[in-house]
Amino acid sequence: MFLSIEKLISNITPDRLDPAAAKALQEALGGQFGEMRTMMQYQFQNFNFRGNAKPFRDLVRGVGTEEIGHVELVANTINMLLDGASAYGGIATQPDTLPLANALNGDGNIHHFLVAGQSARPVDAAGNPWTALYVYDSGNLVLNMLYNLMLEATGRLQKCRLYEMSNNKAFRSTVSYLIVRDLAHEKVFAKALEVLGVNWGKVLPVPKIDTSGMPEVRELESRNLHNQQWTFAKDNSDMAKIFSGPSPFGDGELETIEGLPDGFAIPELSERAEEFAPGLDQELLGQVGKTMTSPSTTGTQRASAARNT
Ligand code: MN
Ligand code: MN
Repeated sequence: MFLSIEKLISNITPDRLDPAAAKALQEALGGQFGEMRTMMQYQFQNFNFRGNAKPFRDLVRGVGTEEIGHVELVANTINMLLDGASAYGGIATQPDTLPLANALNGDGNIHHFLVAGQSARPVDAAGNPWTALYVYDSGNLVLNMLYNLMLEATGRLQKCRLYEMSNNKAFRSTVSYLIVRDLAHEKVFAKALEVLGVNWGKVLPVPKIDTSGMPEVRELESRNLHNQQWTFAKDNSDMAKIFSGPSPFGDGELETIEGLPDGFAIPELSERAEEFAPGLDQELLGQVGKTMTSPSTTGTQRASAARNT
């Protein structure tokens, strides 16, 4: 099972609205090599894991749980780039007295305004819906590890291309974080295959990138984020039996950390009257208000109250 914590895995640096950047970033959410695919691929490999190889399962389970937080991070970043973009000062083709005129200015994805009310969608940058056909789980451990490595490497390649498309700080803070985590995860699967006898020589990492022009990436790597992996588990994880020792890429020491990172506050989205979202009138707001002032009794509290009587 999974436990949710109301925190984001990385901080989104506030910056200007940018519907075009939001559209591009959809590739990192619902694209073939995006976070939704990564999350589902590792979770299915976890659910379907066979045989006596617990450290490998713990590796896939831990990384797959981190990926849920990546999906959440990218969706929130898209929202930060979009929310309020109905007033964005792009090239308007309609009289700007219309509340949603800017949906037609051609910079962004019209579905961000028309379908989603200025927020993220489970689609790629070209608007194609996410599909389960992306998910690879062959049942074969070596093939799965090979494919996972390829997935992380291609994900990082695309995020480096995204980095070069926009200098928006909100966009770049998330893209940079994911570039560094993709590198860490490429190491996870490279190390898993190394444990099974693979000698990578000088081929990895793929792609080999000069990060001297990427200060946000450099800053995260100075904190060793590219060599760390949290277990994202409360119980015993054997991840460290694989993810420890020298990095297979020769850039430091691998570090398995129990539990999960501290996290950052989740940005709140305000009401958008022009989108009729969330669309609560005074009467419905009154009903919501009642739930917020009434005492909440959880199942645990009810169980302990029953024991005390
Ligand atoms: Mn990811
Ligand atoms: Mn990953």
